[in-house]
Amino acid sequence: MSEIRVLSKEVSELIAAGEVIDRPASVIKELLENAIDAGATVITVEIKNGGRTYMRVTDNGKGIAPDDLPTAFLRHATSKISQKDDLDSIMTLGFRGEALASICAVAKVDVMTKRREDSYGTHYSIEGAVEKTSEQCGCPDGTTFVVRDIFYNVPARLKFLKKDTSEANHVADLVTKLTLSHPDVSFKLIRDNKAEIITAGDGKIYSAVYSVYGREFANSMIEVDYTWQGIHVYGYTVKPLSAKPNRKFQNFFVNSRFVKSKACASAIEEAYRNNIMVGKFPACVLYIDVPPNTIDVNVHPTKIEVRFSDERLIHEAVYFAVKNCLMEKDEPNELKLEN
Ligand code: ADP
Ligand code: MG
Repeated sequence: MSEIRVLSKEVSELIAAGEVIDRPASVIKELLENAIDAGATVITVEIKNGGRTYMRVTDNGKGIAPDDLPTAFLRHATSKISQKDDLDSIMTLGFRGEALASICAVAKVDVMTKRREDSYGTHYSIEGAVEKTSEQCGCPDGTTFVVRDIFYNVPARLKFLKKDTSEANHVADLVTKLTLSHPDVSFKLIRDNKAEIITAGDGKIYSAVYSVYGREFANSMIEVDYTWQGIHVYGYTVKPLSAKPNRKFQNFFVNSRFVKSKACASAIEEAYRNNIMVGKFPACVLYIDVPPNTIDVNVHPTKIEVRFSDERLIHEAVYFAVKNCLMEKDEPNELKLEN
């Protein structure tokens, strides 16, 4: 009797899903990225019970064709890339074709979607990767995903979810990052029937910062706009006297994608060295635009980390951008911000 066997599709799907989806916030991240990739300008997120029982993402993007719906939920099915070379110049947030397959493997999903050119929309529902319904329906242009009972079929994962408030805070953090990454999109987060984050989507970074972090924070920032060796660094960084007690407010967006980057984090800390008090940390909302062929975004299933072809250049670009800005605009002069 052989001991080694190929796992069933059901089990292998659950294992693969675990890499992408580990809590409600990861579902929201994937759905929001899809909405942005679909060209949406208005996106509403609603969650109940920390997202455990109910999550909804509604967009006014391009919608999904009825025939494409079953395919969209298959693993490695995507409309965003088609060949190997496309991996070298990714401009969309998604491209791995894994999110919908992962979400429907561990939750109950309903989609209502309609393209502008179609007279009817489609309601498609899928549960544990098994199709339940596919029928015509009336609905506005765009797409609504409703995801219920995450991990209903994976008790081990369900057990590891934190309290509803904590899961909801993770969702709110995530919506904050995506809101800042796309100031041209109007976002709304509704948490247990209460609107929590609302942004104008007027394309101004300042208004997005103001909407998510508030007036005091927005007014404590200095504008950054600097180009170094083809790398454009822009956004806002904190006035040294308003530095924060932790690193929670350090945001870096590479080609409009929120990323965790050691190169950027160390560059900003270095730029502030000797400028802020011990125990205080820089806050920033910095956008770093680089040629797409100089980064590899295919490093991590959730794409939170990227690899730069020249890490040192990125470090320098961020360092000089911030350092110059701090030297130019010595406190306590009142700093003029675009409003
Ligand atoms: P990826 O984003 O990596 O392509 P996903 O599994 O997230 O993979 O989505 C699969 C496909 O479904 C996408 O490539 C896209 O064509 C389609 N899709 C998903 N969400 C939306 C949406 N909100 N609006 C339009 N199309 C969507
Ligand atoms: Mg996606």
